[in-house]
Amino acid sequence: MTSINEQPIPAARPVIGEDEIEAAVRVLRSGRVVQGPEVAAFEEGFSRLVDGRHCVAVNSGTSALQLLLLALGIGPGDEVIVPSFSFAASANAVRLVGADVVFADIEPGSFGLDPAAVEAAITPRTAAIMPVHLYGHPAAMDKIMPIAEKHKLAVVEDACQAHAAALNGTPVGAFGAGGTFSFYPTKNMHSLEGGMVSTGDAELARTLRLLRNQGMEQRYANEIVGANMRMTDVNAAVGRVQLAKVEGWTEQRRANAAYLDANITAPSVTLPPVAEGARHIYHQYTVRIRGDRDAAMAKLTEAGIGNAVYYPTPIHRLKPYWEPDQKAGRTWDLPETEKAAAEVVSLPVHPSLTQNDLERIVTAVNSLGENL
Ligand SMILES: *Cc1c(COP(=O)(O)O)cnc(C)c1O
Repeated sequence: MTSINEQPIPAARPVIGEDEIEAAVRVLRSGRVVQGPEVAAFEEGFSRLVDGRHCVAVNSGTSALQLLLLALGIGPGDEVIVPSFSFAASANAVRLVGADVVFADIEPGSFGLDPAAVEAAITPRTAAIMPVHLYGHPAAMDKIMPIAEKHKLAVVEDACQAHAAALNGTPVGAFGAGGTFSFYPTKNMHSLEGGMVSTGDAELARTLRLLRNQGMEQRYANEIVGANMRMTDVNAAVGRVQLAKVEGWTEQRRANAAYLDANITAPSVTLPPVAEGARHIYHQYTVRIRGDRDAAMAKLTEAGIGNAVYYPTPIHRLKPYWEPDQKAGRTWDLPETEKAAAEVVSLPVHPSLTQNDLERIVTAVNSLGENL
């Protein structure tokens, strides 16, 4: 039971502090509100998180994925290999550019794409592989990149949950042809809404800049067909404030996760895996629950511990994917995806947690015991 003087601990807690408010007001007073100096400064600042790669700011993480796929020339007739165990945006971006989604299973040790499953899913129509760095843990890029190189496929990293996660010292978003980040309020850092594409290819960066702004570099001298996916300077100014804080927040998340790892002992709970060489940034602290997950979640909620399932329905089972597959008689063999969707629960790990909060989380989780 939650005692009278103990508030429930939320699963996430986006920060909109005085610094963010002042930055937004400063831009509004300046009158330079769309894709001006703040956006340029945000792009330059963010490139530090991706080994100095070119960065192109857009209006959401989903736009970032869509823009990157467009810039790579991926469209009708192409297939993109995507994990079904992700947020729908990963697959939606592929469908929005007119390409076909091919689902591949995940590996239990990272919740990311299983390299062997990726290789098995390659066909003559495959154009790209989209690893998702789910929960802030890097996918197995050390094994996926060589597969992509061997088959001459583009790698589009969905790093929307993984700002400054890394594998063997290389940050996510610096492995593939391009990486994408989200600045939605619940992510590790935000710009209210926003997204970023990173790429090591200057030519691709120029194409991305054209595509986000109607195909224009010079006003009214449109070079290609483009969209409007511009970021505003208000969003960029908020993003810059958060960018200055994200490293500290990430260290706090990692410290919170280390405390939970060291103190959660319930036999029904499997701690979040961390692959060798991985820098997990704990966008989510995601455990697996053996036994009755619904009952366990109800007990946690009763104890005032925020908890949530990301994601209860794998993408291939969502209507816009499931129905066309049913019609075409297409099925996917994704046992690890189905297992993860049935077992995972994310616990609070955000940097606003106090030591008392962490102790309450541990007590509530350990009281789940065997959960039979
Ligand atoms: C949040 C998220 C996105 C989309 O980002 P938005 O900014 O909400 O459009 C894409 N992929 C993953 C894995 C995400 O978590």
